[in-house]
Amino acid sequence: MKSNQIDQLPGSSDPFALARRMKTPVWVYDTDNNRIAYANEAACTIWQAGSEEELQARDLSIGMSSTVANRLIQFQADFIEYDSEFSEFWTIFPRGAPVTVKVLCTGFVMPDGRMAMLAEMIGAGQEEPETLRSIEALLHTDVMIALFSIDGLPLHLNPAARNAMPEGVIEFRELFCQLEDFLRMKADLEACNECQIVAKMNTSTGTKWIDLSVKGCLDAATGDSAVLVTGVDVSELKITRDKARFLASRDQLTGCYNRAFMQMEQDKITADCESGDSRHAVLFLDIDRFKLVNDSFGHEVGDTILQTFALRVQAQLQDSDVLARMGGDEFVVLIRDLKDEDTLEARIEAMRLELIKPVDCGSVQLSVTASIGVSIFESAADGDWSDTMKQADIALYHSKRSGRNCYTVFGTALGAEVLERRWLETEIKKAIKEEDFMLYFQPRLDSRRRQVVAVEALLRWNHPERGFIPPDKFIPVCEEMGVIDELGAFVFESACEQLGNWRSQGFHIDISVNVSPKQFQNPNFLAFFEDMAAKIDFPTSCLELEITETSMIGDDAEVSEKIRRINELGFRLALDDFGTGFSNLVHISKFPLNCIKMDKSFVQKLPASGPLLKLILALANQIGAITVAEGVETVDQFNWLDAYGCNQMQGFLFSQAVAGVDLPETCRVIESSLRRVA
Ligand code: GH3
Ligand code: MG
Repeated sequence: MKSNQIDQLPGSSDPFALARRMKTPVWVYDTDNNRIAYANEAACTIWQAGSEEELQARDLSIGMSSTVANRLIQFQADFIEYDSEFSEFWTIFPRGAPVTVKVLCTGFVMPDGRMAMLAEMIGAGQEEPETLRSIEALLHTDVMIALFSIDGLPLHLNPAARNAMPEGVIEFRELFCQLEDFLRMKADLEACNECQIVAKMNTSTGTKWIDLSVKGCLDAATGDSAVLVTGVDVSELKITRDKARFLASRDQLTGCYNRAFMQMEQDKITADCESGDSRHAVLFLDIDRFKLVNDSFGHEVGDTILQTFALRVQAQLQDSDVLARMGGDEFVVLIRDLKDEDTLEARIEAMRLELIKPVDCGSVQLSVTASIGVSIFESAADGDWSDTMKQADIALYHSKRSGRNCYTVFGTALGAEVLERRWLETEIKKAIKEEDFMLYFQPRLDSRRRQVVAVEALLRWNHPERGFIPPDKFIPVCEEMGVIDELGAFVFESACEQLGNWRSQGFHIDISVNVSPKQFQNPNFLAFFEDMAAKIDFPTSCLELEITETSMIGDDAEVSEKIRRINELGFRLALDDFGTGFSNLVHISKFPLNCIKMDKSFVQKLPASGPLLKLILALANQIGAITVAEGVETVDQFNWLDAYGCNQMQGFLFSQAVAGVDLPETCRVIESSLRRVA
């Protein structure tokens, strides 16, 4: 038994016998059952009970706040563990009305061995109501309130603070998990006698985030300097806030930073750059043909690729580098404080090689590549951060256009090239809207008859400021922009309209129109030509579609069906640029073609290219297709082709492409000059 726990009178079986003799109110509170186990007469008076039995019958848990209940349990534990004693002001409610008493509480071992609490009234509550209320508030509040000496030793702890005090802790300093928080608090106290800080603290229930308010004061009992500390547990709030902050700055799929975070980083860098020289690199990375991955293997596989991609890039970075997913398949890497460009290029190349390794996507192993654009920011050279970002984007764009799976470091020449390209894109969109594109027609003549029998419709763009822009400059851009279908439809419809006009003037001629591989592969390809065949009021055989070998690559059945249907509709079909592509004989023999056009590069290499041209002429003859030589510029070329049986020719020797209104006259001039030569 511990020293201050009451013992029963010798020879008495009543463990409370001694207390019954006392005139001060004394009672024993059975913490486990929330009842008074024993009470002397004076205590019964205080509790306004007629007898001890009546008091014992009262269930004191009724109306008891959880704070009080917890504190009583804590007291019980402290009696067992430390033989503690407490003196406190209590407000009890014997018959509903408050009675304030000051009690001294110590442990009391019940006859059955359980620990109870012996309460001795050591003073009555004569304080002012306000004082009583503040005492009560101090006792019951969850806010931890403590007074420490200037050396950090506890002078007073309210129950909440006492409960939170971890075992074995003596000094205030020991409560801080991080020394820098303690030092900051100390410095603030010295500087302005107070400090507000959220610090990670050791408590009886583990480490917690406590919002501390610390103030220098005087100890009311001694007049010595002291420190008054109030603390509120904000762990939950802090964790939720940190989590929210984390989520707000992260990309959900890959876990790397997101666009919003990158924006903040850039703002920081811009601010940092105002003071001192700095060099940073920005890398824009974009997965090549990623849509194809999604379309072919589904979004889940696409997601795995994105996650692996982010992990692989991250693994290549140094601590001060930042990776963010800007959206879709586009990532940005910020490399801080660049030392040497060669190292940078080596790092990027290593990264690119890492990225192309196969990714295990469960059902399938896939390799993707990435295109990278790089720009370097130099504050000493008055670099502008937003320009750096734009330049990295331009460099990426250049990598894409250069065939992908490569990196480009931005330079001035690149800037000019890309600006030109952007200009073209904008102007093409405008030209389509304002119908600035038009058709010109290049005559094609029959070698034997010396007569113009057809024309090739060629798209021309007469730009209001720059004049004629060559097709090889704008057609590839239209293809990349995805407007080639729209343009293709415009070309065909305009050609039909022109043919109708000529025919109504009594001028009869055939037209051949180029069809791009994209147009040919479009699912609406047949529907468009079926529609056109129904609209025109002249034979479809006047129209020839020029396709290239590339159009024929793919699903054989689908290609066959398209070609069969085009034939069935009556359009003629020519294979354009023969000899420049795969020159696959299977294509020629498998599909019914009316015409084979030999590329101008062969014609211009005559007579060296003679054996090859003879072969193509023989081949066309075998399959019953007529032959057309393109790019005929000299009389020698004409004579060679004529001698070896090439059916038709076109080229500057006869005429350039001319406007529709000029064509009948051009044809007359060509034919009459040929007659003269013949
Ligand atoms: P390019 O080589 O020109 O970059 O071609 P691309 O097909 O990769 O085209 P782009 O970069 O424009 O396409 C990005 C695609 O990323 C478009 C979209 O379908 C896909 N995507 C965007 N967000 C997600 C995502 O969270 N998950 C998956 N699986 N795909 C996404
Ligand atoms: Mg992409």
